[in-house]
Amino acid sequence: MENIKYDYLIVGAGIFGSVFAYEMTKKGKKCLIIDKRNHIAGNIFTEKIEGINVHKYGAHIFHTSNKEIWDYVNSFVEFNRFTNSPVANYKGSLYNLPFNMNTFYQLWGVKTPQEAQNKIDEQRAEFRHIIDPKNLEEQALVLGGRDIYEKLIKGYTEKQWGRPATEIPSFIIRRLPFRFTFDNNYFNDIYQGIPIDGYTKLIEKMLEGIEVIQNVNYFDDKEKWNNLANKVLYTGKIDEFYDFRFGKLEYRSLHFEHEIMDIPNYQGNAVVNYTEKEIPYTRIIEHKHFEFGQQLKTVITKEYPDEYSKDNEPYYPINDNKNQTIYEKYLALSITDVHVIFGGRLAEYKYYDMHQVIDNALQMTKKL
Ligand code: UDP
Repeated sequence: MENIKYDYLIVGAGIFGSVFAYEMTKKGKKCLIIDKRNHIAGNIFTEKIEGINVHKYGAHIFHTSNKEIWDYVNSFVEFNRFTNSPVANYKGSLYNLPFNMNTFYQLWGVKTPQEAQNKIDEQRAEFRHIIDPKNLEEQALVLGGRDIYEKLIKGYTEKQWGRPATEIPSFIIRRLPFRFTFDNNYFNDIYQGIPIDGYTKLIEKMLEGIEVIQNVNYFDDKEKWNNLANKVLYTGKIDEFYDFRFGKLEYRSLHFEHEIMDIPNYQGNAVVNYTEKEIPYTRIIEHKHFEFGQQLKTVITKEYPDEYSKDNEPYYPINDNKNQTIYEKYLALSITDVHVIFGGRLAEYKYYDMHQVIDNALQMTKKL
């Protein structure tokens, strides 16, 4: 057809779409990106407010053990030395995260790894009969016993996911390290940091010289957009792409309350988790601490978990058996679609971290 102007139409200017666009453009392909929002960068979008880079869709901390991925992101922008070390507030008492010697000292007053190990063994003894944990609750109890579960996991998890911990897949809690050193680093990865000047800059650099159209919904005229390119890279929800024909996939949503405060330091840390059920938000983010900001004001964000509906954003796939079964049907169908490539958290219905999405996008472009 004569009106085919692009090699690729890319739906979504988030991480997957942007890495893909950068790599394919480098190979000489012509790409057009469309996005329904009024900005690029998807959920890693940051906006400068009072001189502070505010993570508008939730805090993002980049971490990876893959040197290729680390070098890749550093080729676009410089990263700072931020290390995520959240503090948990449970009923007014503070605990370090992830679960480490500081946490064990705060919980039980134990001072050595051996004392901590003994205490945890005692805590877990009750659950020795659980050989193969079937859900997050069982997994957490087997890993750390009752105190840690009840104070630091249960309330947070149940409000985050909007369902009992017995109905949440166990892999989610295995994201959190458990260690017998005084190390508050939330991640085990070798490399970690935040882009200096914010994540939007990282994506801007990837998209330099590439055509981007914002504020357009692909589904308003799918045919028109498809006809512009030989192939489509789609990074949105896979169920929506196929008109929900096998049923709707479930997602967990969030909403954020941002607040500018006329004080230099609200909580002394970038992330404070509120782990009791009664407080409706899961965490408060104080953005300046991601970049060691010295401004006179501060910006904080309360993060509230929410039911997903067509009026808000899908953030987390709910990878339980029911949804996984539906997803497999969409996946099987998508594989037969020779004109469309699917990638990213929503199109693959997986709880990916940023570095995994970059890795997947790079692997994909190498194959093409
Ligand atoms: N989690 C918890 N207590 C906390 C923080 C996390 O129980 O204080 C659990 C919770 O189930 C959460 C999961 O660990 O969904 C993963 O947390 P992570 O911080 O990795 O999630 P994300 O930042 O992606 O929301």
